[in-house]
Amino acid sequence: MVLVNDNYLKLPESYLFSDIKKKVNAYKERHPEARIISLGIGDVTRPIVPAIVGAMHAAVDEMGNADTFRGYGPEQGYDFLRERIIAHDFFSRGVELDADEIFVGDGAKSDLGNFGDILSVKCRIAVTDPVYPVYVDTNVMGGRAGELSDDGKHWSRIIYLPCTAENQFVPELPTERPDVIYLCYPNNPTGTTLSRIELQKWVDYARENESLILFDAAYEAFIHDDNIPHSIYEMEGAKEVAIEFRSFSKTAGFTGLRCGYTVVPKVLKLYDSSGKKIQANPLWNRRQTTKFNGTSYIVQRAAEAAYSLLGDKQIKESIEYYMRNARLLKESLENIGLKIFGGDNAPYIWVKTPNGLSSWKFFDRLLHECHIVGTPGVGFGPSGEGYFRLTAFGRYEDTIEAISRIQHWKL
Ligand code: PLP
Repeated sequence: MVLVNDNYLKLPESYLFSDIKKKVNAYKERHPEARIISLGIGDVTRPIVPAIVGAMHAAVDEMGNADTFRGYGPEQGYDFLRERIIAHDFFSRGVELDADEIFVGDGAKSDLGNFGDILSVKCRIAVTDPVYPVYVDTNVMGGRAGELSDDGKHWSRIIYLPCTAENQFVPELPTERPDVIYLCYPNNPTGTTLSRIELQKWVDYARENESLILFDAAYEAFIHDDNIPHSIYEMEGAKEVAIEFRSFSKTAGFTGLRCGYTVVPKVLKLYDSSGKKIQANPLWNRRQTTKFNGTSYIVQRAAEAAYSLLGDKQIKESIEYYMRNARLLKESLENIGLKIFGGDNAPYIWVKTPNGLSSWKFFDRLLHECHIVGTPGVGFGPSGEGYFRLTAFGRYEDTIEAISRIQHWKL
């Protein structure tokens, strides 16, 4: 008899996006003539920019040449990329890091999920609510979430930090001490951000309470406002308490290519069960060298090219393309009287559903009456009820068409 990890069985069967897909497919079957526009799943639509494509071609040629062929690379990433990351993403913002504090991986999702490997099953987890579902689900798998409530909304051992219009989407410090706090800014799904002062408050809290912050900065490239920190390490003392996760997915269109990185500062210490301090960096290094064999050379050359002068200029143009969608969506939805959040420094628009409609009711009406697909806020957590997420990642023409349909909609 082979026993499975029972924690996996605790996860509710259906996943938000598969529920959405089922509803959309059912509608399409009944209305094959409907031209449905998806502003739902947060995938990009712009192609990889020429500077990056060129770098990949060159890397492919290297792989086909006996003199320049590369086999297994360093599990932590090639130095050519780690050094570019440090110079471009951190040093330019006054943050000093060493190359061995950067771990290149195949995207933020895997690192965020895998980081639990080095955490005790006893750790208490806190998440902002609503939240990117990966944080909660991977902790369920790791046995840290406890039991799901009868209404399916809360896990007994997870501390939820509500973020709603009432607190301007700024989570309040927890009343019960968590060991690990997930923060994602700019935020998916609400599209909101934290100011320097607000983020410093979290770093100070983590230092006072010996908590660990897992900071997901997957949407950092969408920040325009100078008052918003790009990295948690811009905050005083953050290296002692925070791990940062970055991704090339939304920044440079790598959702299909796969590349990201994780910063594990060497000064960050955790504890073993006897109370002895343990450096997190060698633990994560051990985890990666054991379970991961590195991101492909070609993809790392592609990521490197995102930092070249031309690559940087071209990816900024793609980001501007999406942010134009965000502005247009936001303005037009506000003009028809909807209450809108986010969308200024993030590619997500968080809509307050009108007339007290539930998130799913609003989803159904938008699908049936406008043929537009979005994401019901409640799918991201209990505090997402009564909200709805639209993404700016669609094609410009589709976004304009969606806006026009919504403008003619009798809500
Ligand atoms: N973190 C957040 C908040 C996300 O929204 C996503 C993807 O949608 C990810 C991480 C995953 O990014 P990656 O494609 O690098 O795995």
